[in-house]
Amino acid sequence: FHVPKAENEPVKTYAPGTPEREEVLLTYKELYNTKFDVPLYIGSEEIRTGKTATINPPHDHKHECGVYHLAEKKHIEQAIETALEARKKWAKLEWEQRAAVFLKAADLISGPYRQKMNAATMIGQSKTIFQAEIDSAAEICDFLRFNVEYMTELYNEQPNSSDGCWNRVEYRPLEGFVYAVTPFNFTAIAGNLPTSAALMGNVAVWKPSDSQMLSAQILMDVFKEAGVPDGVINMVMGDPEMITDTVLESPDFAGIHYTGSTAVFKNIWAKIGNNIDKYKSYPRIVGETGGKDFIIAHPTSNPKQVATAITRGAFEFQGQKCSAASRVYLPKSLWPEIKDFLVEDVQSIKMGSPEDFTNFFTAVIHERSFDKLASYIEKVKKDDDAEIVVGGNYDKSVGYFVEPTVVLAKDPHYTTMEEELFGPVVTIYVYEDEKWEETLHVVDNTSQYALTGGVFSGDRYEAAKATDILQNAAGNFYINDKPTGAVVGQQPFGGARGSGTNDKAGSKLNLMRWISPRLIKETF
Ligand code: GLU
Repeated sequence: FHVPKAENEPVKTYAPGTPEREEVLLTYKELYNTKFDVPLYIGSEEIRTGKTATINPPHDHKHECGVYHLAEKKHIEQAIETALEARKKWAKLEWEQRAAVFLKAADLISGPYRQKMNAATMIGQSKTIFQAEIDSAAEICDFLRFNVEYMTELYNEQPNSSDGCWNRVEYRPLEGFVYAVTPFNFTAIAGNLPTSAALMGNVAVWKPSDSQMLSAQILMDVFKEAGVPDGVINMVMGDPEMITDTVLESPDFAGIHYTGSTAVFKNIWAKIGNNIDKYKSYPRIVGETGGKDFIIAHPTSNPKQVATAITRGAFEFQGQKCSAASRVYLPKSLWPEIKDFLVEDVQSIKMGSPEDFTNFFTAVIHERSFDKLASYIEKVKKDDDAEIVVGGNYDKSVGYFVEPTVVLAKDPHYTTMEEELFGPVVTIYVYEDEKWEETLHVVDNTSQYALTGGVFSGDRYEAAKATDILQNAAGNFYINDKPTGAVVGQQPFGGARGSGTNDKAGSKLNLMRWISPRLIKETF
């Protein structure tokens, strides 16, 4: 059996006059005026509990796009039972059969569902078309296709055998079900976390983010049409604590595939520890959590290149990527030039609804996030040891708009150099050129996180020095590039320290967490 080598899904341009531009705009208008009614998906059932919450686009929060239904404890128990029932057949299926449904899901997203996925991500999560396309169209297809390729490589790995002694490994799924918890900021992550476990023969209870309801529902439509059997992926929404507690009480809880905040992940980890005697096996705990991602420039770096990396790394998708650049270290000799480029870049950013393709920047995800960002910005305005270089305004009358904001801090340990804000605020610290090496150590010691980082240098020896000193400061380390934009199949993604278990999304390492291999030795 031969599975074709995976290739990255080509990214469409949406340039004026292209058919994809017309199509996505039409789909956007259609979905904008649709009243969504997102049910829980448990097995073959769509459950409308009647207890609902509304869905509002972040850039136009008075507009209602419909509702999603909230589960009670009994629904979570039902989802677990349904998943375990589905497991009886799913886990026994030949891997080619499982691969086929997820390859088909990728083809559906690449083709007929592409603009629905993009429009839903633009409306519900406020992504521009360009940010939506790399996420809800390209990256999700890449996850599905590359995971199939990695699975086949993994399944081909077998131990040596000898005359009269035959060894083989059976790559069995975990005994139980997997709990997938996904964030609002990448539709692709929402697609990847339940499916990567399911591809390996597991069944999943999936809790998407409340702020991702539109694209989550369309994903469930895709899974169904692709032939993912009922009960293999069950989608539930509601009080996150109740859902998690119910899941973690089950003796069949076999693992969690999580992306979200560090605090919630640590809490889940502690609860798993407290429940450990209940479980049949030690659960797999895989998580990608926070980031306080850096850019550091050496005096030999190119000022224009550094400024562009800051603008894109800090402000694309309003800085709401775990990988976003949020603390920057610049040499004094280059600061004036970089500052000029940066101010010009940032002032040219157009902010508004994603429906207007000339907007580079839209709203932040919800009021909680808006209020948090506004309070940090106010603090900067009052503090003597920091100032705003550009930006600093915000307005939530129509949508949750926070200007792209550049802060200059006198102290490399200033609050906004250390805390994760998860929004469009980047803080710069200017170091004395001769303190380059010392500053590398500051970068390493400043944050509890270690997800991504970028070093800019025209000098190879200095780039190598930074790579060495910062060896534990980022799971994804970029030389002369911004810290965002990992591509599946090219830059497997994840970090350690407070940023996660570093099981690299979109890699064989990740898939290995969803199997419990059995070695069979037979002599004859
Ligand atoms: N993989 C994304 C990137 O490289 C970030 C994922 C995340 O924000 O969790 O930008």
